[in-house]
Amino acid sequence: MSECIFCKIANQEIPVPLLYDRDGVVAFSDLNPQAPVHVLVIPKVHHESAAQSAAANPAVIGALFAAAASLALEHGLDGYRTTFNTGESAGQSVFHTHMHLLGGRPFAWPPG
Ligand code: AMP
Repeated sequence: MSECIFCKIANQEIPVPLLYDRDGVVAFSDLNPQAPVHVLVIPKVHHESAAQSAAANPAVIGALFAAAASLALEHGLDGYRTTFNTGESAGQSVFHTHMHLLGGRPFAWPPG
């Protein structure tokens, strides 16, 4: 997807510092952080949403969770939240599968 901003980050056409780069997964800091730690964890392969990734290759979703657990450990988080916004009505604004990894503050439930 030549116009996808997250594809451009994943292939370093846009040179954002990568916090993780392994097993077809990269991670980088969110531009507009909602917590002291707010990392986006994405597959290098382009899928429009987590639902599309799960349908195309469920291992992609597993790889994102494995990356999040590793990043949480690295950041010394004793608890963290992982979120996929799937579809516009759920707040998805970038249509390349991404997991939000949030930590470093308490989180309320239910989420807004
Ligand atoms: P969502 O609303 O779930 O699709 O999340 C998209 C996220 O991508 C938002 O939290 C944005 O702040 C973040 N974002 C958009 N563009 C960039 C970028 N170039 N670098 C880092 N984060 C970005």
